[in-house]
Amino acid sequence: MKLYDQPAHVLHDMLVNKEITATELTQAVLARMDAVEDEVGAYLTQTRDTALQQAAQTDAKIARGEAIAFLEGIPGALKDNICTKGVKTTCASKILEHFVPPYNAAVVEKLQAANPVLLGKTNMDEFAMGGSTENSAYHPTHNPWNTECVPGGSSGGSAAAVAAGMAIWALGSDTGGSIRQPASFCGVVGMKPTYGRVSRYGLVAYASSLDQIGPLTRDVTDCAHLLNVIAGHDAMDSTSSAAAVPDYTKALVQDVKGLKIGLPKEYFVKGMDADVEKAIRTAIEQFRVLGAEIIDISLPHTEYAISTYYLIAPAEAATNLERYDGVSYGERIDGVDIMEMMTNTRTQKFGAEVKRRIMIGNYALSAGYYDAYYLKALKVRTLIQQDYAKAFETVDVIVAPTAPTPAFKIGSMISDPLQMYLQDVCTVPLNLAGLPGISVPCGYSNQHMPIGLQIIGKPLAEETLLRTAYTYEQSQSFHKEMAVLGGKQA
Ligand code: GLN
Repeated sequence: MKLYDQPAHVLHDMLVNKEITATELTQAVLARMDAVEDEVGAYLTQTRDTALQQAAQTDAKIARGEAIAFLEGIPGALKDNICTKGVKTTCASKILEHFVPPYNAAVVEKLQAANPVLLGKTNMDEFAMGGSTENSAYHPTHNPWNTECVPGGSSGGSAAAVAAGMAIWALGSDTGGSIRQPASFCGVVGMKPTYGRVSRYGLVAYASSLDQIGPLTRDVTDCAHLLNVIAGHDAMDSTSSAAAVPDYTKALVQDVKGLKIGLPKEYFVKGMDADVEKAIRTAIEQFRVLGAEIIDISLPHTEYAISTYYLIAPAEAATNLERYDGVSYGERIDGVDIMEMMTNTRTQKFGAEVKRRIMIGNYALSAGYYDAYYLKALKVRTLIQQDYAKAFETVDVIVAPTAPTPAFKIGSMISDPLQMYLQDVCTVPLNLAGLPGISVPCGYSNQHMPIGLQIIGKPLAEETLLRTAYTYEQSQSFHKEMAVLGGKQA
């Protein structure tokens, strides 16, 4: 048995039963990184030494007969926009190339209380702007299922690391699909919790009213465990929810009998890949067999979601990224005066997509255009929220594709930003409405690339999502298959 192939809940039991040590497990994952990281490029920074120290601490604890927390001794990775004290956090941008945060993000503090092994920081689209990880200023990440394809994005490094056995679990962030879409492309489970469920303190801001941190894992069970660790109120994030955190593992029951599942016709978009549609329709039939009731619904404003998102997100980004001026933050490129210095800094250190969004955002916010673009987008955002609220009067969850296609070839879309934005059609509406969503593997394309099924819930209905996803997952075996690299598993 390959240790790096196993989900965290299996490895946790093996640690507790003393069948393996945390050091052996960490070494197995590090060896896997040695074997395949050159092909995949999931990491920006590796913290191997501290990883082995953390593993040794867990082993000492087990040897002393002490109980260990769920994640204790289990190697995982963090997206590089999550601040880690003393460990570089670059957001895959040249402007933060040498930024070492003086503090931990709230989620990192929570994780550290559970003593996991942290392997490093994962690659992403620069400042989380993108859906393919090709916008990283350092290198692209390759999909472990076919290294000619993208892993999705912007949390592509996290998804690829989990899919390739280079991390047992990972955290990503999702502003418009950045956890769910790479999970779908890489055949892993990814959840965007309800806006406010997980603290954003220490997550480098892209679009603050949409950003949310969440888990990327091998299966739904691990997702529930990881959410238990990271969820909860935080006084440092004024948008964080005060709602009590349940034990999400209690939701891991196989039962969807009588569950009302909404099927929104607008999510089966024109141009959707035939293999994706087939896999989703097969999954829906499976839910029917499992006892759920399938109800056709309409979310009529879905067609405006992309335009709304691509006004609101860049507007917030333009504001958030003002701090990278070579003074407050950012690598400074000198000039003859402050104006030239800031211009040089921002021109030379931001990538093309980031500049594009700063320009769109400032345009949408500028006098004369504010009402026509930004304000109008806010109003449409309300209409999208109302569509869901109305649908949830009749259904318990909504099921849809996570992405309209499987992973595409590296380079095939990067020169056509509009085409790339259209990829987000099934994921951005949830962020606009603040709703939780989970992507679970539900099949393969005819090229054997993974396809993800998206389950969408009411605000704070993570338990319903987990129960629905778990019941489906346990009825098939997609989550058990690992990506094959280089024609064979190393
Ligand atoms: N693909 C979307 C974008 O480019 C979503 C990104 C995200 O969720 N961070 O903005």
